[in-house]
Amino acid sequence: MEFFEYEMNDVSSLTRLFWSDPQSRIDYEAFGDVVVFDSTYRVNKYNLPFIPFVGVNHHGSTVIFACAIVADEKTSTYEWILRQFLNCMGQKHPKSLITDGDNAMRRAITSVMPNSDHRLCTWHIEQNMGRHLHQDMIADFRVLVMHPLIQMSRRKWDEFKFNHKVSEDNKWLMRMYNLRKKWAAAYTKGRFFLGMKSNQRSESLNSKLHRYLDRKLTLVLLVEHYEHCLSRMRHREAKLDAKSSQSVSFTASDASEFEKDASHVFTPAAFKKVKLEICKSMDWEVIDSIEEDSLVRYVISRKENSEKMKILSCTYVDSSLQSITCPCQKLECECIPCDHIFAVLHFLKADAIPLCCIMRRWTMKAKNAFYSDRYGETYHWSDQMERYRKLRSVGNEVLFRCSMTEENTDKVLSMLVNLELDETCGSVGNEELQYSHVLAQSKRTDIERSATVHDPDQIMPKGAPTKRIRGFMEKRVIHCGYCHAPGHTIRSCPLYLR
Ligand SMILES: [Zn+2]
Repeated sequence: MEFFEYEMNDVSSLTRLFWSDPQSRIDYEAFGDVVVFDSTYRVNKYNLPFIPFVGVNHHGSTVIFACAIVADEKTSTYEWILRQFLNCMGQKHPKSLITDGDNAMRRAITSVMPNSDHRLCTWHIEQNMGRHLHQDMIADFRVLVMHPLIQMSRRKWDEFKFNHKVSEDNKWLMRMYNLRKKWAAAYTKGRFFLGMKSNQRSESLNSKLHRYLDRKLTLVLLVEHYEHCLSRMRHREAKLDAKSSQSVSFTASDASEFEKDASHVFTPAAFKKVKLEICKSMDWEVIDSIEEDSLVRYVISRKENSEKMKILSCTYVDSSLQSITCPCQKLECECIPCDHIFAVLHFLKADAIPLCCIMRRWTMKAKNAFYSDRYGETYHWSDQMERYRKLRSVGNEVLFRCSMTEENTDKVLSMLVNLELDETCGSVGNEELQYSHVLAQSKRTDIERSATVHDPDQIMPKGAPTKRIRGFMEKRVIHCGYCHAPGHTIRSCPLYLR
């Protein structure tokens, strides 16, 4: 049951198309915390932007949540795409978004997903730096982009402008200054992006899609090819799931108990990161602890430089650790506990990794709530999900209206609590309850509309770089892994060697 929506113009040519399949929606439910999307790809003969919504799964691989193809790049068009996305995903907004920085897209996000944190992709900023700045300004500007401690205050900005004699005419720079909270490391630090800075996810997806793509592709062939790529990515995920469910990541025999425990909990890809933090934690030691009721503050310092200190706060209930916070905020931003937290766990001689340090999205249980039945490489959706969708769509609205008064809230609450269910409903295990809400489904494949849709009109791109697509027989051109320019590798990249 695919979800899809489309629009046509006066002469029945396709102008907007959005679609997503059931498995993509399960993926969004489990991994839709950070969504990457950009519109700079045109891989069809009509030159229409191809806009994938991409995320990262529990194995650290790319997953696709949905896709859109549109005939223009106006704010209203992006708003339409985002609304379809939310309709499809049961109105679940992502925590944060990474985009290419297109103005119209940015405005659409502000109006449709105002509560989702939004940052601009550093890869696109790097590209634009080359286009809008002199060579001698680039290094200084890059420091502003990358340095986590340099707040881009007015004074700092004036200093940069004065040093490089920037005129007020440089519109790109002025715009970037106004948008600084969406890209400068000093502002994006401590925010939830799972450690991602750029649209590398959609880059890698596009490189997969591009592998056998031709610019002369019709939309039907493009969609078919996209489905093929999707199926390969899912096959790979299924293989990784199978492998990690039948093996445990390696830990040394003298590893701590919580490290051994973590190797069972996290997927191998996530455990790799966890293990690195555990290794780094050996450089820290707890030098003091301050108790205030259920809150304990641990002061840790670096072994070889005791002046470097951090204070972590832990809360306990009946001597079991309930929460732990570190000023570096790695756990909150990347869902991986930091080396400072592990230093405290060492000190506490923890025999297992505490629940407050485990984020479900990096574990083997990430998709536990609703299994999809796998038939070869395709996925089927259960009827129960369809019934659940109906209940939830209607229920959401009714409950919201009831919540406006205390009286109605109590009335509905007592009605729900006292609702007598058929015995066949059975009981729901804890595992499923933990999984919070589930996405609503929409049976869009019941095609009642039988309108004829014509091919879209060919359009001219709006200034965004058009990707050069490699044909079947064309020789591969090497692109730099750092600046993405063709013809040289990262080892000889002038920007990298700077
Ligand atoms: Zn930390």
